[in-house]
Amino acid sequence: MLDFFTIFSKGGLVLWCFQGVRGPAATAPVNALIRSVLLQERGGNNSFTHEALTLKYKLDNQFELVFVVGFQKILTLTYVDKLIDDVHKEFRDKYRNEFQQKGALGLLNGTFDFKDDFMRLLRDAEDSSKVRAPTVMKTFEQSLKSQKTVKCMIETRGEKPKEKVKNKKNKGSKKDGTEAVAAPSKVSAADKQLSAAGDKEELTKDEILQKNREEFFRRHMKAGEKSSRSPKPDTQKEKGKKPRVWDLGNSNAKVLDYSNSATNGSAEACPVEEFDPDMALGDKNREPGRLYDLEYESDDEAEEEKVVQNPSKPSVKKGGLGGMFGMLKGLVGSKSLTRDDMDPVLEKMKDHLIAKNVAAEIAVQLCESVAKKLEGKVMGTFTTVTSTVKQALQEALVQILQPQRRVDVLRDVMDAQRHRRPYVVTFCGVNGVGKSTNLAKISFWLIENGFSVLIAACDTFRAGAVEQLRTHTRRLNALHPPESHGGRTMVQLYEKGYGKDAAGIAMEAISYARNQGFDVVLVDTAGRMQDNAPLMTALAKLIAVNAPDLVLFVGEALVGNEAVDQLVKFNKALADHSMAQTPRLIDGIVLTKFDTIDDKVGAAISMTYITSKPIVFVGTGQTYCDLRSLNAKAVVAALMKA
Ligand code: GDP
Repeated sequence: MLDFFTIFSKGGLVLWCFQGVRGPAATAPVNALIRSVLLQERGGNNSFTHEALTLKYKLDNQFELVFVVGFQKILTLTYVDKLIDDVHKEFRDKYRNEFQQKGALGLLNGTFDFKDDFMRLLRDAEDSSKVRAPTVMKTFEQSLKSQKTVKCMIETRGEKPKEKVKNKKNKGSKKDGTEAVAAPSKVSAADKQLSAAGDKEELTKDEILQKNREEFFRRHMKAGEKSSRSPKPDTQKEKGKKPRVWDLGNSNAKVLDYSNSATNGSAEACPVEEFDPDMALGDKNREPGRLYDLEYESDDEAEEEKVVQNPSKPSVKKGGLGGMFGMLKGLVGSKSLTRDDMDPVLEKMKDHLIAKNVAAEIAVQLCESVAKKLEGKVMGTFTTVTSTVKQALQEALVQILQPQRRVDVLRDVMDAQRHRRPYVVTFCGVNGVGKSTNLAKISFWLIENGFSVLIAACDTFRAGAVEQLRTHTRRLNALHPPESHGGRTMVQLYEKGYGKDAAGIAMEAISYARNQGFDVVLVDTAGRMQDNAPLMTALAKLIAVNAPDLVLFVGEALVGNEAVDQLVKFNKALADHSMAQTPRLIDGIVLTKFDTIDDKVGAAISMTYITSKPIVFVGTGQTYCDLRSLNAKAVVAALMKA
């Protein structure tokens, strides 16, 4: 049944391996496990799926060992957890001395004759899963149904509710065991209900209705009386709604009525508000074209002091040794970490992460992963449980934020340039998250790096979307006029108005860019809700037809876990609605409105943890310079800040 069982050191040395008869070689799935879970700090649950296999694993942190079992995922093997525990115990007990004496290097020459033990443990585990006797079905005579007579199925008016209540009571007694009489107060309450129900049945339907109505009015009147008792301003009595008049507003509605004016929605006719280049640029002292890292000041030192004081608390509780002894116990690490030591700290860490906007289940998985990584590890001298756990969590978080696949846009654009084709980026996301604004910021950054940009206005749905991009294009051209770029127009808008097929416009834009020698095409798409199937199909089509180099999901940090839900569903919808065999999914994230969340940066963790997609850009404001690259350490510092 098992495909393989392997034991290896964390350094990568395979110590022992069992290979099932027909199973695939363990190498590829185990490598995938190491790459995607163990190195990525995603060890929260003990299970990993690779193609048709399920892998379960256990870490031994004291001797730095990993135990992995693999089996077909269509099988439900209930004994696997027990087997992996038993093998872990047996293996480490059998070779404990070797591990302790020879250390990691000693393992190189070690021979681990474990086959017989393993086969015995496997047999035991398999047997234990069979031991549970199958549940025998009741015969008809034993069932309640057999006791029902035809008579009891005939409903007589007035009896029905009594029967029902009685039956309910029976059900309850069945659940609670045999003593239904054990709770006298409950019984009397039930009796009261019964009699009330009985009384009601004596009345006719109309009478009951009348009674209920009276009851309703009585309650309503009471509420009215209550509210009238509370002091309320006299204005309450005035009926009808009055329009609010703002202090600085103009109460004359005619002023706001544009229906007769000459403007008809075209951007040129609209009065363009004054454009202040300094305002649009933001920071004037920055280096042009440089994508700065997110900055964050951590208050680590103050934090450290608090951390050191904490571990003495559990020891006070347990052994009653406060003061000096408690502190020493917390500080001097002579023993290996147990789950009990870590639990209080992990609980606190979990709450802290949730408070910082990390999705609750991800916070749990993260803490679980840290616990698995640390359990059994011998603590260094002069380290506390808290600082050890905190350090491990910090490392895990940095690891999560550092993408498996790095997206280097400038390098990729240059690569596309060499192949004489434009580099195409598609932006997608729900409405109002900042797609157009951040597309404009990215255009600005690309222009500053000497690349020309064609913006494809493929949001043919939202009124004003094209005009918004037109304004950005005009401003960007004002900041980077052709004169300062050897007569070359650095940014242009490709638009076909509203109501047209977005995929078609994107395709035309790309071929236009190729003919005109644009370096980059940025495709703006209409905002859509992740659950809207027709719109998601349209997006999947746009992506499938145009095969962009980069598909960016734009999500705002502000909404926290909602952004995670959007991202997951967008990715899934792209997979589900794509006609292609290998659907094109999201490649990276633009995390916007990062300036609005203070230190509640959890969405960044949740989004990357769930999808393993890198955060390529971070939007930090509303000027063209408010674009940053993610700095994992800065985000983690903000996350760990008390
Ligand atoms: P779209 O519907 O997704 O295209 O969203 P918009 O680009 O129209 O942006 C919606 C609002 O979010 C606008 O008022 C933007 O100025 C604002 N916005 C976009 N990005 C950021 C950001 O990084 N920080 C802040 N504070 N506001 C932003």
